[in-house]
Amino acid sequence: RGTMTVAETAKLLHKDASEVIKKLIMLGVMATINQELDLETIQLLAGDFGVEVEIKIPVEDDRFETLEETDEEADLKERPPVVTIMGHVDHGKTTLLDAIRSTNVTGGEAGGITQHIGAYQVEINNKKISFLDTPGHEAFTAMRARGAQVTDITIIVVAADDGVMPQTVEAVNHAKAANLPIIVAVNKIDKPGADPDRVKQELTEYGLVPEEWGGDTIFVNVSAKQRMGLEGLLEMILLVAEVNDYRANPDKRARGTVIEAELDKGRGPVARILVQHGTLKVGDAFVAGNCFGRVRAMVNDKGRRLKEAGPSTPVEITGLTEVPQAGDPFMVFEDERKARSIADKRSITQRESDMGANTRVTLDDLFKHI
Ligand code: GDP
Ligand code: MG
Repeated sequence: RGTMTVAETAKLLHKDASEVIKKLIMLGVMATINQELDLETIQLLAGDFGVEVEIKIPVEDDRFETLEETDEEADLKERPPVVTIMGHVDHGKTTLLDAIRSTNVTGGEAGGITQHIGAYQVEINNKKISFLDTPGHEAFTAMRARGAQVTDITIIVVAADDGVMPQTVEAVNHAKAANLPIIVAVNKIDKPGADPDRVKQELTEYGLVPEEWGGDTIFVNVSAKQRMGLEGLLEMILLVAEVNDYRANPDKRARGTVIEAELDKGRGPVARILVQHGTLKVGDAFVAGNCFGRVRAMVNDKGRRLKEAGPSTPVEITGLTEVPQAGDPFMVFEDERKARSIADKRSITQRESDMGANTRVTLDDLFKHI
């Protein structure tokens, strides 16, 4: 049947049904205990509960035969942190992203034509850092609303001549809601009116207290425009990454999230994805949202063709039949037939739920079941 009920899912995840329902509400899904959840939702839930699951689907039908915890500790390898930059408009997000990107055209990659693929990687001290270069709270909020968790660390940019503004506060709130470590980049310190201490002072009101004042928030002074302090900022990111010990298993079929997608005139549907688990290879059959495909070509942010891409690598792929949506989960299956049938099932489920949008579930209905 291709689905499991909330109760069954709860059992598999070793959680109470009420916890699962609460989590679903947070993901924007109003569900009752007997409601059937699709693969995508079950995976989102598992991710939110911090449970690694692998969904195996037998060839005969699309039932989830087993949903088991995988990834032995020994299989988990260090992976680059994935960073997003947020902050008030005009405080320098784009300039900072561009500056970081160009600090780091390392030897081997020089000469490559930089591609906009929604994210990029830089290397410092022999370690990689991935940046999502789609700032803007909307993209971030949209992804989170869909349950996609792509970021490990948030950099909040605050212009030192302007201080904390409404979208700064919004960014702090988003980062806190997502439980993400925050690094504050106090930008524009080259400007005459720059007052980094004022930024620190203002942010203490939102619970971000600098280390030198007894708190635990990292503040870095930078000038994106003059390219000052960038290396220090990158080093702080590595420090936070080391403390949090981000890991993934590279030795399995890839899973990740669509960051952007569009229809390209020449190449057809193109998706930019962040690989989060496993390794994606050219030729892999996959499902992205309701779409399926087979990786025809894969390029990185330096325009270099890749044969495979491991955890935390952003890539652009072609070989889709349709255009998926930003935030859609991406998953490789053992063959194209399987991928196609999953995508078809999802399209049907989607259509049914679109049509059934008027069957409202009230909170009373909901809590009757808890
Ligand atoms: P965004 O809206 O947050 O993406 O901000 P932008 O990166 O577009 O920057 C807004 C304006 O601030 C632009 O005119 C930038 O040139 C300028 N700017 C960004 N960073 C700095 C900086 O470090 N120093 C100075 N003086 N100007 C900056
Ligand atoms: Mg911008």
